[in-house]
Amino acid sequence: MTTPIESPLSPPYTGPMPNQYDIVIIGGGMAGATLATALSGHGLKLALVEAAPLQVEAVPNYDDRAIALSHGAQRIFQALGLWNEMASHAAPILHIHVSEQGGFGVTRLDASEEGVPALGQVITARDLGAALLARLQSLEDVAVLAPARVRWLSIEPEAAHLGLEEGGELSARLLVAADGGDSFVRRQLCFDTVRRKYHQSAVIANLTPGRPHRNTAYERFTADGPLALLPMHDERCALVWTVPDARREEVLALDDEAFLRQVQERFGWRLGRLGRVGRRSAYPLSQTWVRDSVKPRAVLVGNAAHTLHPVAGQGFNLGIRDLAVLAEVVLQAVEEGADPGSEAVLRRYEQWRRRDRRNVALATDTLVRLFSNRWPPLRLGRNLGLLGLELCPPARHAIARAAMGLEGRLPRLARGVAL
Ligand SMILES: Cc1cc2nc3c(=O)[nH]c(=O)nc-3n(C[C@H](O)[C@H](O)[C@H](O)COP(=O)(O)OP(=O)(O)OC[C@H]3O[C@@H](n4cnc5c(N)ncnc54)[C@H](O)[C@@H]3O)c2cc1C
Repeated sequence: MTTPIESPLSPPYTGPMPNQYDIVIIGGGMAGATLATALSGHGLKLALVEAAPLQVEAVPNYDDRAIALSHGAQRIFQALGLWNEMASHAAPILHIHVSEQGGFGVTRLDASEEGVPALGQVITARDLGAALLARLQSLEDVAVLAPARVRWLSIEPEAAHLGLEEGGELSARLLVAADGGDSFVRRQLCFDTVRRKYHQSAVIANLTPGRPHRNTAYERFTADGPLALLPMHDERCALVWTVPDARREEVLALDDEAFLRQVQERFGWRLGRLGRVGRRSAYPLSQTWVRDSVKPRAVLVGNAAHTLHPVAGQGFNLGIRDLAVLAEVVLQAVEEGADPGSEAVLRRYEQWRRRDRRNVALATDTLVRLFSNRWPPLRLGRNLGLLGLELCPPARHAIARAAMGLEGRLPRLARGVAL
């Protein structure tokens, strides 16, 4: 017997709701829109609720940030029939180059060595969002409610109920929270959450290198924090520069010349002179994760379940694996005549996802901590580590497989198989 969970704001439940769905997804960001696409076409009654108007310019995270999609994430989009719309905006990553400013160690990963056409793809969140929203709007079995903000929730044994700020109520056998890092659902349903602040911000901008990037993604560890230059499809590079919070405003306020000089000092001259820097934005960084991502009739996915430091570019890559697994588990349950929001189904999902979530969060956090420490013996150790990796193909291969999202038990979509 499940226990009803009342959110502090919820009114008493008084009977059947007018709008009943099998699954309601909250959030039309990358996670929510991808999940709706994956679940569509299987006879389910679906709704998606998004607080912003459903336009790329309005949805908060469909912005200029560059998303390095892993090979596994690209396969998921391919299996969902979405990759064709994204491909012309994406640049393949053929090589990855990892180094430390002032250090001697270097590690390189190579697509051909891994036997894949590309280790990943770089696309802006804006272009990814445009493809996702166009698809979402064409799905006839998904009722899209936007702009509409969920204001209250109530969980009963047979259904989740939710009310919208704009008026109107919905009920669902399963509520999927894809409502981002500051998830309303996570707070309202009191998920056990751990948060670690890094006191760092990621400053992003696009710039033009003096030499061709040759589809290489550079990760450089500096005294301030990691700095990445990712190849873009138009020969520009996307910069993700982590700076201490105390320096954020100063870095944002630099004129273009001074900004480029500071980036060049840290990155070096591998790509020649860096120039033509575009608009800059900054994002405060923290790590958040839930110990258990399911509760009766509810599940958290994407950033609602975990936010990561962007050092390894794994945030959405981890999130899209949530969606691929959830879609598979739910559709299989429905095929067997089971209730998609039942505890047994949600537990199956949680058990499948727990290990990957924990491993990626731990690896990302360890990387940040290991390279944030300036203690000389540790600096020496990590440079030896980078060198050791360079000289040890099996270890490099293991890291490449993990970064490509090809480790562990893969859902059908991540194997390139449609649902
Ligand atoms: C600088 C930076 C670089 C990054 N680089 C990478 C990378 O290279 N690779 C990678 O894999 N990941 C990367 N990430 C992570 C990636 O951007 C996130 O994982 C992804 O955007 C999360 O998507 P989401 O859909 O889970 O959440 P969000 O994008 O936050 O979407 C949540 C949606 O829910 C809506 N919402 C919220 N509350 C409500 C409510 N009450 N009612 C209705 N709707 C609501 C919001 O309007 C929003 O549209 C990066 C992140 C940053 C900051």
